[in-house]
Amino acid sequence: MEFTDKTIVCKDCGKEFVFSAKEQEFYQQKGLEHEPKRCKDCRIKKKAALEEKNNKN
Ligand SMILES: [Zn+2]
Repeated sequence: MEFTDKTIVCKDCGKEFVFSAKEQEFYQQKGLEHEPKRCKDCRIKKKAALEEKNNKN
């Protein structure tokens, strides 16, 4: 199957980001059926916030 770059609107910031063909391939290899809902920035922010929270505990 051929993948093509896809534009998705981020759920958190509302900005458009590209879900690239390479990423789509990666997702499929990992068996992930769902597309990312957030842009890279928001994913990083979310991850950082989560780690910060975990460090506090
Ligand atoms: Zn975002």
